[in-house]
Amino acid sequence: MNCQMCQNYIDNELSLLQTLGLLKNQKKLICQACESDFAVITMSCSGCGRQQKSTQLCRDCRRWQQQGKILLKHTALYQYNDAMRSFMQQYKFNGDYKLRGIFNSKFIQIIKSLSKDVIVPIPVSENTMKTRGFNQTTGLLEGIIYQELLQVTTIKKSHQSQFNRKARMLRQQPFTLKESSISLRGKHVLLVDDIYTTGNTLYHAADLLYSAGAINVKSISLAR
Ligand SMILES: [Zn+2]
Ligand SMILES: [Zn+2]
Repeated sequence: MNCQMCQNYIDNELSLLQTLGLLKNQKKLICQACESDFAVITMSCSGCGRQQKSTQLCRDCRRWQQQGKILLKHTALYQYNDAMRSFMQQYKFNGDYKLRGIFNSKFIQIIKSLSKDVIVPIPVSENTMKTRGFNQTTGLLEGIIYQELLQVTTIKKSHQSQFNRKARMLRQQPFTLKESSISLRGKHVLLVDDIYTTGNTLYHAADLLYSAGAINVKSISLAR
């Protein structure tokens, strides 16, 4: 088999433990060299998961607090370095859906270890869904149960007069809650995204979930 990142051949010979059935036979999708290019986050800001030398809140998180936000206590697995950027390029923008398999099992293993009642992924817009064909975040969640409670608000181009006002509103809150039978009242929610960049997206999503009665909202992403 060839590495999904660099296309070099990977030797997927079974180890003795795998042959004996004592270790799960998980085929590697990427080679050792590519795997080592991804930088695991080891010590991070307790607010946003950014790699740093201590767990103290970073300046951005202190600013979220000053704005009255309840911090997301974000967990991120990897730094957004060149290797991760190139992974996201291939996975999202070239739409290579099978690449989700590189991180999927590790990602859901960590999600399972976090306390939560409901898992809510960040949605993609209808347009992205049309062009990409999938939501990169739910791709990473394959194998666990999640609730798609959020949707990206769409602006109908035909209502041009309302466009500017709606566009201004959208800049503030890009999502709406879908009608759902699931009540968030008193629930601990775990929001999931592929990348945490500024935190804007996740904090907007959290605002909606809190307004729907969630008692606590935390978040996780593959990269930060
Ligand atoms: Zn490789
Ligand atoms: Zn932070």
